[in-house]
Amino acid sequence: MRHPGKDDPIALLCDLLTDGEQRVAMQAIGGRASPAVSALLRADLLVPDGVLETTICDACEVHHPVDVVFDAERGTHGWRCPEAGFVTADSDAVAMVSLSMKRTAAAVSGAFTDAFGYRRWALRPIAGAGAWVVGAWCIGGAWTTVILARYLCSASESHRTREALVRLSPNEAGLVLTIGDSEGFEPPRRFAAVPLAEAIAPINGSRLVADSRLLQRIVTPLAAGRLVAHAGRPGSEAKVAAVLEGLEARGDLPAGTKGLSGVVARAWEEFHPHEGSPAPSTLRKHIAAWRSRY
Ligand SMILES: [Zn+2]
Repeated sequence: MRHPGKDDPIALLCDLLTDGEQRVAMQAIGGRASPAVSALLRADLLVPDGVLETTICDACEVHHPVDVVFDAERGTHGWRCPEAGFVTADSDAVAMVSLSMKRTAAAVSGAFTDAFGYRRWALRPIAGAGAWVVGAWCIGGAWTTVILARYLCSASESHRTREALVRLSPNEAGLVLTIGDSEGFEPPRRFAAVPLAEAIAPINGSRLVADSRLLQRIVTPLAAGRLVAHAGRPGSEAKVAAVLEGLEARGDLPAGTKGLSGVVARAWEEFHPHEGSPAPSTLRKHIAAWRSRY
């Protein structure tokens, strides 16, 4: 397992997200010269968000506080010093950057799609918890729910997240990618908690990269439990749900249930290339069950 150091962009991102979705002075987190900061900027996980309102003048001996202003004539930010006059600011020194869970979840989703292919489920925040559903991917043969969660060191948040995960439609396995301290968090059955900084290898260019070998090693035993527990069950309901959720995620799911079994039958091969579609009556039964859950 990797031990994230201070130059690790994901470790820096996790530190910042632990404090909240925020706007920070780029200089305060190491500036553009820091490898971690520049990697997060490249990956669009930190985005430029205006400039500092105040700073300290470094053009004279006094080190007095100043308001940062935009000088339209010069087209630059700077400040007025009684001694040095207008001082042009180094744009990196006054730059602010911001970060969010949504942006992070989207980047993690991209990394999982690069590693594991087709995604089911749309990216969405979990109401009432500080967590996001990132999606579901087939990891080592098992459909796996992937969640991004933080604030798990708080007993109440840890409980809320757990309850929310129990209510999700089940897949064969689940991963909770944790941000910050998650001691005391007990994932529900078939879920495992993994620090985000371990699940994601260092950023490659502008993309996050999932540690696919590590994740497969974690998911396989979770899914094995599932297969034993449901031995003999045909699982066609789960397969129908997979098609419906796949169509829904890309906006191809018609409203209502009329004609839906035909839509599912036509899309079947794309989602389950090695198995035939169930009979229309079975499809209709599972579609009705799936619809009733929403
Ligand atoms: Zn000055």
